[in-house]
Parts: sequence; C-alpha cells; structure tokens
Amino acid sequence: MVESHIAKTLEDALKTLNSGKFRIVAGGTDMLIQNRSHTGMPIGYKDNVVYINLINELDYIKEDEDNVYIGATTRLETILKSENAPKILKNIIHEMAGPGIRHTATLAGNIANASPAGDSLVGLYVLDASIKCQSVDNTRIVKIKDFIQGVRKIDLKSNEMITEVMIPKYDFSRFVFKKVAPRLSDAISKLSFVGAIRIEDNEVKDLRMALGAVYMTVLRKEDIESKYIGQSIGELKNNIELIIEDYNSFIKPIDDQRSNKEYRKQVALNLIKDFIMKS
Ligand SMILES: Cc1cc2nc3c(=O)[nH]c(=O)nc-3n(C[C@H](O)[C@H](O)[C@H](O)COP(=O)(O)OP(=O)(O)OC[C@H]3O[C@@H](n4cnc5c(N)ncnc54)[C@H](O)[C@@H]3O)c2cc1C
Repeated sequence: MVESHIAKTLEDALKTLNSGKFRIVAGGTDMLIQNRSHTGMPIGYKDNVVYINLINELDYIKEDEDNVYIGATTRLETILKSENAPKILKNIIHEMAGPGIRHTATLAGNIANASPAGDSLVGLYVLDASIKCQSVDNTRIVKIKDFIQGVRKIDLKSNEMITEVMIPKYDFSRFVFKKVAPRLSDAISKLSFVGAIRIEDNEVKDLRMALGAVYMTVLRKEDIESKYIGQSIGELKNNIELIIEDYNSFIKPIDDQRSNKEYRKQVALNLIKDFIMKS
C-alpha cells in the first residue's frame, strides 16, 4: 500500500524524503495527469507521495541587488502578479495554461517535470537561473542547464527536493517570448523561443537565445551567442545566414501528436531570424 504524507514544514518534508522512497507532489497538475486512471477509477499513485504545497515557508518571491529568489511552493499566478519577478518569466507564465492551473501549479514543478516543452524553461535558461536542492544534511545550488539532464531526467537525489529558484537580474534592450501552440491558453507548446539582446552604442553587448521542444532539453548555444557579441547591430543582421547555419545542425526536433519535426525546425529557424532582424 502506498503511503501519503502532507508536509507542513520544510523540515517535515525533508525528513519524509529521507525516510524512504517518496514522490513529491506540489500543485499536482503534472502528477495528476501522469497518474490518472483511464478506467474512471480515482488517481492511483504507484509510489509513496509527499504533498508539499502547504509549506508556507517556501511560498515567497524575494530579491536582493543581484537576484530574484522564488520559493518552491510559489504558484505561477503569484509570480505573474508579482512586481519583482523578471519580466521575461512573467510574459511566459502569462501564456502558460489558464488561471485555474496557474493558481495551483508551481515553477519548481515545471522545472522538475523536465519536459522539453516546459514553457518556463526557455526563460530560465536565458536568464541563467540556478536551482537550490536541499536534503536533511545538504544544500547545493545547480545551474538549470546542468540540473536538467534529458527528457524528464533531473539531477536530484531521492532524498532531495527543490526549495528555491534563483534568477540573476539582467537588463536587456529587447526580449521576446514566442509560444507556438494551437490556441492562446491551455495548450502545450509545439515549440517555444526566447531571445534577449543588450545593445549599447550600436554594439551587441549580450545575446541569448533558447528554444523549447526542438531537442531533448532546452537548446541554448552559448558558444554561438558569444561569436556575435561585440559586433555592431548592422554586422549582426548581415550575418543572419551564418547564424541560421550555426543553429541548423543543433535543432533536432521529433514528430509527436502536437507537431512534426519539419515544421518545428523551420519555425525555430524563422523565429531566430525574426528576432535578430527586428533587434
Ligand atoms: C490543463 C493544463 C495546462 C497546462 N499548460 C501548460 C503550459 O502551457 N505550459 C507548461 O509548461 N506546462 C503546462 N502544464 C503542465 C503543468 O501545469 C506545469 O508543468 C506545472 O508548472 C507543474 O507544476 P506542479 O506544481 O503542478 O507540479 P507537480 O505536478 O506537483 O509535479 C511535477 C513534477 O515535479 C516534481 N516536483 C514538484 N515540486 C518539486 C520540488 N519542489 N522538488 C522536486 N521535485 C518537485 C514532481 O515530483 C513531479 O515529478 C499544463 C497542465 C495542465 C493540466
């Protein structure tokens, strides 16, 4: 028989995770779908579960001079309404699910679910977010690009949980988020894109682009981005065909029920081109 435990404090959750094999349920919006019964029977979790969504001490958005810190039980809707959450992230969350799901779902849950189509991830990759993982006897901080290791694969031990998402503050001259989906809300992305650029005195000082659902994890190529930093904006635009060529071989989407690989690849390249040419 599976055991379920409702943790009210972080200490309680960490002790529970340390006492045996437990799955974590935060908002449950992915967990309920993944464990739904197709025979009309109630949800059937196969493993023990620890519910963490009542842990108030992890429900916060704080900031200091350098970073914004979002606790693991903070709901997407809270982030959307917050004044100090990064604008890129708020734009993304605005297009995630609908209000009902956003009032329940967490950012940490979207990260831990590690879907290539997880919308917040493109923004968090571009913003160089880090994930705080805690167990009863250890705390470590991992960059999101290292934390997510593949489709639904994350760098998290069985006795650990995400307690916080740390997002450095950046100033960009321009950023865009594009979600390609069949309708405006309550739709999983066919693919997604975030581009961010900082231009000073006509020179590219910072350039970042990330694509979702075109590879096993979010695709961000810092080595390609850095080639174009220091160029004038005119030079950057003149190099558009080279930039497209740079990304072409790394974009490796799959066919699934939402789209096919040819469409995903072409639209991904179009989004890169559109972002650069309108910068
Ligand atoms: C109708 C609907 C629409 C949706 N639309 C979108 C959309 O537009 N874009 C999108 O990206 N997603 C969407 N989703 C998916 C889902 O809502 C998000 O991924 C959400 O952010 C998950 O958060 P949660 O708190 O509900 O996670 P849960 O379902 O509770 O957990 C998800 C996974 O994360 C793990 N987990 C949760 N919290 C922690 C933690 N603190 N530490 C370690 N592991 C943890 C769980 O064990 C589980 O593996 C949608 C879902 C539904 C049902």
